[in-house]
Amino acid sequence: PKTLRLILGDQLNYNHSWFKTTHSNITYVLMEMRQETDYVKHHIQKIVGFFKAMRHFATHLKEREHKVIYLKINDKNNLQSLDENLSALLKENNFEKFEYQLPDEYRLDQQLKDFCKKLKIGTEASTTEHFLTSRKELEDFYQGKNQLTMEYFYRYMRKKYNILMLNDKDPEGGKWNFDKSNRKKWKGKPEIPHERGFRKDASKLLEEIEKAGIESMGSIEAQNFNWPESRQDALSVLNYFCENLLVHFGDFQDAMHTEQAYLFHSRLSFALNTKMLHPLEVIEKVTEHWRLNKEHIDISQAEGFIRQILGWREYMRGIYWREMPGYRRSNRLRNQNKLPEFYWNGDTKMNCLHHSIKQSLETAYAHHIQRLMITGNFALLTNTHPDYVDTWYLGVYMDAIEWAEITNTRGMSQFADGGLVATKPYISSGSYINKMSNYCKDCHYNVNKKTEEDACPFNSLYWNFLDEKKEFLKDNNRMGMMMSLLEKKSAKELKELKNRAQKVIKNPERF
Ligand code: FAD
Ligand code: SF4
Repeated sequence: PKTLRLILGDQLNYNHSWFKTTHSNITYVLMEMRQETDYVKHHIQKIVGFFKAMRHFATHLKEREHKVIYLKINDKNNLQSLDENLSALLKENNFEKFEYQLPDEYRLDQQLKDFCKKLKIGTEASTTEHFLTSRKELEDFYQGKNQLTMEYFYRYMRKKYNILMLNDKDPEGGKWNFDKSNRKKWKGKPEIPHERGFRKDASKLLEEIEKAGIESMGSIEAQNFNWPESRQDALSVLNYFCENLLVHFGDFQDAMHTEQAYLFHSRLSFALNTKMLHPLEVIEKVTEHWRLNKEHIDISQAEGFIRQILGWREYMRGIYWREMPGYRRSNRLRNQNKLPEFYWNGDTKMNCLHHSIKQSLETAYAHHIQRLMITGNFALLTNTHPDYVDTWYLGVYMDAIEWAEITNTRGMSQFADGGLVATKPYISSGSYINKMSNYCKDCHYNVNKKTEEDACPFNSLYWNFLDEKKEFLKDNNRMGMMMSLLEKKSAKELKELKNRAQKVIKNPERF
């Protein structure tokens, strides 16, 4: 039958079996739509990155003799919504069948299901051939269990794909997890090789986006667009990581520094989440590189990296499909505050927040610990409603697609699911931030003070949080030690801490 096949913006899988052969009766469609640019206010680099990658993908298909319809954002016949565009195309061209790949977002999954119900022609949904688990696999794995500890799922995945295994049950290096040996602060050494930059021109596309009137956040250098737009680009980011960064990845995974946004992180999440790279090829490439360079790359670096992709990434996706759509409304700690205005401009005297936010707005990137222990930590300690937190994280990062964003933000970072993903709230006082970064050195606030005018706000916020939320935390084993320290505080000390914290919570902009 004459078939229309939809490719969504995050379905740029160059090796998908759809493209193995060409058929004169199959047409592919990709579309840039206001529906997708406007469901949240995105970072400008994210909009440019998606459009660039989609356009490149369409060209790639056309060069291989596939029939492709591409709707640009300002095309006259672009009706700007998925349903309307598809309906018009199906009708105009008398297609007899409609096919799509299963979306990774609940929102689009529902939309396409509803759309297909109304169609009078045949429809078919197939897999994106990207993930290493099916949507329901995690749910089945944890059936009957109370706790969804990631580590067990990760071990199951190691065995399932035979990654870093000696045989079918024993891990290489004698341990499943080398996490303990990971945490180091970066003090200018080891040297970080010069960044892998693309310096692409985005000026024409920026004009188109501006003409369309799309609202965005963050900034971009028009002549210096730095993200991969093709599979080839993405592969070069992967190679660069293996050659230059893997060697210290695990050691400095949690480190933060004012002069180094990326440190030894791979920056592969955009290429992975748009499916330009397959998770297994990334894992295999890293494993192979480690094997060939065992004398100077420790297994802990490779294992630490592989765990992020084979473990955490698949785990979060599984949680998403297990918990949606309810997850979107979860707010177990009943937080209600708005996110401070400075999340949109970095304008705060708290140096850790200033740097992490400014960097996010300038690069559409922050690494895991900046997201979790700086911006996420502050939002949680100041009782921010998870809806506001989600809106920010879903917009600001290059890799932000709801399945990965919401599970990390609501679950891992804001404890809004009551401890499904994170076994305890990820919160800290200033001392952890000082331990892992150089932020405190030049801060307006003193990280060693608790309640004075110039005391680090995180210090009082931390104890205030434990006290305010103790009903939710008292049965949590992992919080036991901190809760007993809280109890040992004198009424006077606690009162002073809480007074100071309330000032911050009531008026974060002043800090
Ligand atoms: P690296 O540190 O080099 O790690 C390698 C890869 O592992 C990443 O590219 C990513 O694909 C995967 N990975 C690592 N941690 C996670 C994780 N917790 N969940 C899923 N994949 C992981 N990641 C997203 O892809 N999209 C998001 O929208 C997103 N939002 C986040 C929000 C918060 C509050 C937090 C704490 C984390 C979030 N993460 C998100 C996870 C993680 O921070 C990013 O994947 C990572 O920073 C991307 O940078 P990188 O490619 O340099 O990662
Ligand atoms: Fe952040 Fe406090 Fe350190 Fe300042 S002193 S950078 S506010 S942790």
